[in-house]
Amino acid sequence: MSENNINSRLIYNAKIFTNEQVQFGYLLIKNGIISEIVEESPPKTLFQDVKTQFDCNKAFLLPGFIDTHVHLRDFKQSYKETFETGSKAAILGGFTTVLTMPNTIPPLSTIENIREYFDTNKLFYCNIGVFAGVKEGFDINNLDDISKEGVFGIKIYPGDKSQELPLKWNDGWRNDLEPDEFFASIKKVISLFQNEYSNWEKLFNFAAKLNLPILFHPELPRAPQVLEFFYEQGKKIAVNEGKINPNLYAHHVAHPIYQNEIANIEMITLFLRKFYPNPKNAPHVHFVHVSNPDAIKIIRTALKQEGYPCSIEVSPHHMFLNYEIKFLSESFAKVLVPLRSPETQQNLFKNVQENLIDTIGSDHAPHSLEEKSGEFEKAPSGFPSLDFAAQIILTQFFNNKLKLEQVVSYLSTQPAKIFNIPNKGMIKEGFDADLVVVNEVKPYLIKGENAQGMQKWTPWENFELKSKIIKVFLSGTEVYDSDLGFLETKGTFLKRSIK
Ligand SMILES: [Zn+2]
Repeated sequence: MSENNINSRLIYNAKIFTNEQVQFGYLLIKNGIISEIVEESPPKTLFQDVKTQFDCNKAFLLPGFIDTHVHLRDFKQSYKETFETGSKAAILGGFTTVLTMPNTIPPLSTIENIREYFDTNKLFYCNIGVFAGVKEGFDINNLDDISKEGVFGIKIYPGDKSQELPLKWNDGWRNDLEPDEFFASIKKVISLFQNEYSNWEKLFNFAAKLNLPILFHPELPRAPQVLEFFYEQGKKIAVNEGKINPNLYAHHVAHPIYQNEIANIEMITLFLRKFYPNPKNAPHVHFVHVSNPDAIKIIRTALKQEGYPCSIEVSPHHMFLNYEIKFLSESFAKVLVPLRSPETQQNLFKNVQENLIDTIGSDHAPHSLEEKSGEFEKAPSGFPSLDFAAQIILTQFFNNKLKLEQVVSYLSTQPAKIFNIPNKGMIKEGFDADLVVVNEVKPYLIKGENAQGMQKWTPWENFELKSKIIKVFLSGTEVYDSDLGFLETKGTFLKRSIK
């Protein structure tokens, strides 16, 4: 064995996704970095020259998936999920890197909390980075210091009253306005409040200066009594029409597509245009879990095509689940933004097939079974997804519904690019050897009890999969094997470097 190959690993007989296409051949890893990708069988001498070798048996070798929308909880919500259980779910699902959301308790809105979250004594399996939030303790004047903690972006829930970036808003939106009337009324309200938004402008300017993406949960604030009113209204319709999930339907009615989701996107659009007549100066805005094609169209025409840096995330549940599907429990499928109609869901997936979106994020948001039991209205929104999200998308490839380049783009390449995660998201010489070996298998059904995350319930119960994660490598180290289980804990805390 020659000196310079001491840490080398050979992965061969693989369908390697590199350079936007599948290439059959082998790959060499040295010191955790992809050093060579070759389109042929390895020469015999190479086998003696490397420390370890793995025969892929013609399986696919893909860049490790990157989920930029997870809630790993931990802190005071360690009964829902911890770094250890959440990162195990990630690896089992083929995700080598996750970026986690700041709505922890306490929230990741201060330097102290962010530092404590990055406690080095924690055990975890995949790479983890964080977003900062703007909740209690957040001080806009500390943004510079917060960014130095290595956060990958700033997450804003415009509907959340506990934030330090208040939105003065008229909560009494009607549900029955036509879209045109509605947009006219939003514009009027925004013009009335335009002087109240100096902190928003400050935040946007800062993000633009640091090239730090701002993530928006696309929903407008609605007062509890407004939500309750429309929920009750939705429930009446559901009962009259004999809907299979009256509560899920009512939840959708209370958080409607236009007046809640699109209204928020429209508001952000107006802000951006007002603050930045020249789109080149605007910060990158990332809309998470967009649930419908109309919202995508607005983001694309009002922002993207005008040159504003922005991106669109969709989640597997909005692509494949809807409020007409039978679930083990309605509460399991309660999520924000809500599941929509079958038609909206199918059209959303068409948008994904037509490359109209940028990333797929799981929105892994676990709660305890106890919290999800009992009354629907009291159950928190969200459900665990990391174990299955990538497999659900890979299954679309094996069913010829998505191309492999789309799967890799949405799950690896674009997340790395948008959030400036260097040397990840592609199989390329010089890049980190975060890799996943995937194969097509006979159809089988998702069972929540098989999840590695802390929660063993799922709205995906009995959804059919055709993909299998065979092995996962993190920086060249084999960390998971489908027969042997978890082999090593190699996860690192990722911190964004500021240029
Ligand atoms: Zn989320």
